[in-house]
Amino acid sequence: MGDIKGFLKHDRIAKGNEAPEQRKKHFEEFSIPWNKAKYEDQASRCMDCGIPFCHEGCPLGNKIPDFNDAVHRGNWQEAWELLKTTNNFPEFTGRICPAPCEASCVLGLNNEAVNIEHIEKEISETAFKEGWEKPIVPTTETGFKVAVIGSGPAGLAAAEESRKRGHSVTVFERDNAPGGLLRYGIPDFKLDKSTVARRVSLMEAAGIEFKTGVEIGEDITAEVLETTFDAIILCTGSTVPRNLTIEGRDLKGVHFAMDYLKHQNQVIAGEIDSLNSEMDMAGKRVVVIGGGDTGADCVGTSNRQGAVNVSQIELLEKPPLARATSNPWPEWPMVLTTSTSHEEGVDRNWALLTKRFIGLDGRLTGVETVKIQWIDQARFEYQEVSGTEEVKPCDAVFLAIGFAKPETKGIVEQFDLALDQKSNIKASGYKTSKPNVFAAGDCRRGQSLVVWAIAEGRKAAVAVNQYYQALVPKT
Ligand SMILES: Cc1cc2nc3c(=O)[nH]c(=O)nc-3n(C[C@H](O)[C@H](O)[C@H](O)COP(=O)(O)OP(=O)(O)OC[C@H]3O[C@@H](n4cnc5c(N)ncnc54)[C@H](O)[C@@H]3O)c2cc1C
Ligand code: SF4
Repeated sequence: MGDIKGFLKHDRIAKGNEAPEQRKKHFEEFSIPWNKAKYEDQASRCMDCGIPFCHEGCPLGNKIPDFNDAVHRGNWQEAWELLKTTNNFPEFTGRICPAPCEASCVLGLNNEAVNIEHIEKEISETAFKEGWEKPIVPTTETGFKVAVIGSGPAGLAAAEESRKRGHSVTVFERDNAPGGLLRYGIPDFKLDKSTVARRVSLMEAAGIEFKTGVEIGEDITAEVLETTFDAIILCTGSTVPRNLTIEGRDLKGVHFAMDYLKHQNQVIAGEIDSLNSEMDMAGKRVVVIGGGDTGADCVGTSNRQGAVNVSQIELLEKPPLARATSNPWPEWPMVLTTSTSHEEGVDRNWALLTKRFIGLDGRLTGVETVKIQWIDQARFEYQEVSGTEEVKPCDAVFLAIGFAKPETKGIVEQFDLALDQKSNIKASGYKTSKPNVFAAGDCRRGQSLVVWAIAEGRKAAVAVNQYYQALVPKT
């Protein structure tokens, strides 16, 4: 630990972001890096606690006090080497991780947590700039063939970890390009797609083959896949969106959030020539239903497209500004968060139930809502407050209320895999009900986070390697 009094000398400083009015004019990332000295001061705030709870908070178990210490000493290469022992893709988590590590940082007990995520991004970007990030080419080839289905963060991590161990790896992706939600869900202003392409290029150089535009279960059957590969890792995500089957759902102008976000990302990538008018919010009044990250991404995208106004509706109560006593450190804080997209302009509404979509000649003109009084959020019990019915005039609605489960038609049915109680692929220890088929990421744990997907992909690769070792005759 470089400076035992670092946390007394330096307060946490905010990330340098371009001003909301400026960044709303473009779709590029808007974080302005600090100079190196600022990162080194911020890293010195890490107290190297006896029990670093941040290790538990981070699903990857990143060695946070160790890399903070190295950064504080100005040894960025050592910091990167430490970070890479647990995290394949710090360039993604350093940009878009909600940082559960910071929620459990011991300094957060009576001060502000260490800026872990932002330091992680700078370590990663320094590594790319200095050329330390290189293809990880194995020294021996096992001849064992692994197919990874889906190229989101879980698939990418499973592929890299399997290739490291000398296996031959092919990643199948039904979309035009690899990345999963990193590429087609998360907007460019949060994660520039050149960051995804840069990582995929390194993986290709390490010998991983990417076959895009191929839907497994449709273009290649489970049977054919099994005859070609020794092990299969399903990383197909949780892609069935939750719907709101109320009156007016069929009106023109009511969209699933992912259809909208994917379309905008494809336009920026040049996969689609121009915005479809239905997906262009210029001059429109927008209502986003769902108060989570996906909803916030719709807010940021609508504002960038030039929406007249954007409202966001959340069913739950407005969270408190500070932790409730029932939600102590180091639990994830259930407090009000304001994302960068919210800073750019939105009318946020809580405890509001959407009753029906209203339209004229088949086109949406408004949303009828009513206030609700929560009786018990844990048991999902609430009552409507009579007399509070209201119509919000709008031209477009985005349903951002989460994802129910993975798709089962196709590969899952063809392999006849068992599902768990929530209809996710059942895979205890990442092993499905078929011995040569494994599963990781959102298709196994339900909709989650990029950091969890990477952690699951890594562990699935370990399970595959154990399966391989059990098959190899002992000498
Ligand atoms: C709009 C949005 C914003 C988000 N923002 C954040 C954020 O800021 N931070 C964060 O941590 N998390 C965020 N998340 C969650 C995060 O993106 C996911 O938890 C994560 O991407 C899951 O990774 P995965 O690899 O399991 O699945 P995915 O990323 O969903 O990838 C699955 C891939 O499998 C492919 N596939 C599916 N079936 C087949 C098949 N049969 N054949 C071939 N390919 C197939 C799909 O096309 C897809 O590319 C966000 C999610 C959404 C929807
Ligand atoms: S990956 Fe996320 S949780 Fe882990 S150290 Fe980085 S920011 Fe924190």
